[in-house]
Parts: sequence; C-alpha cells; structure tokens
Amino acid sequence: MLSVALIAHDQMKPKMIEFTLKYKDILAKCKLIATGTTGSLIEEHTGLQVEKVLSGPLGGDQQIGSKISCGKVNVVVFLRDPLTAQPHEPDITALLRICDVHNIPVATNRKTAEILISYIQDHLAD
Ligand code: PGA
Repeated sequence: MLSVALIAHDQMKPKMIEFTLKYKDILAKCKLIATGTTGSLIEEHTGLQVEKVLSGPLGGDQQIGSKISCGKVNVVVFLRDPLTAQPHEPDITALLRICDVHNIPVATNRKTAEILISYIQDHLAD
C-alpha cells in the first residue's frame, strides 16, 4: 500500500485540511502518516485514519525522516510556511534532504501537492 506523509506548519494547516478533504477518496486508499497536530486535524475534519508521530517541533519531522530512510514512505506532502521562521528549521531541512537522498517525491506547496495526487493515483496499484 502506498504510504503518504502529511505535514503542515501552523499557518498552512487550513490548506492541508482543505487538501485532504478534497482528495479524501484517493487518500483513503493510502497509508497516511502525519506529524501530531496535522494528523489530529486531518482525522477530525476528514475521518481519515492517520498514524501520528510526535508534533514537528518535538521531533515528528525527524521521525518521518527516519521512516523515509527505511523505505516506509512513498510520497511526502509538506505544506511549509515560507514566511514564518520555525524553531525546528534544521529538522525541516533534514527531512527535505532525506527525500532527495532517497528520491522520494515531496511537495512543499499546494500546487505541487495536487500534481502528486496524480502520481499517487498512478501508483495506487503498486
Ligand atoms: P505539527 O507539526 O503537525 O505537530 O504541528 C508540523 C511541523 O511544524 O513540523
């Protein structure tokens, strides 16, 4: 089953909810992993089942990075807030780096996330 990691910074959480609601039927066919707060909000608003790791600032980004390293994540949607400094910036950079190391598609904005939905649809049968 395709595994999709979902992370959104605070200012981007409404966009993540909108995104997961819009593509709920497709995402329901995937294994979803998310940082703590993002995952709780997705579950609350969409009813999708999400495996939650720690909140990003507490190490959640690193936990997801570890899963990527182990080959347990196929797609990452990481809606970053480009206008606000994050206390856990090094972890965010590390997560993006590990996606590149393992050639994992990662979207950092809504448009790219929508493009990755097509990728997910194409690979659902894998
Ligand atoms: P959160 O973490 O979903 O727990 O808010 C996201 C982040 O800021 O990395």
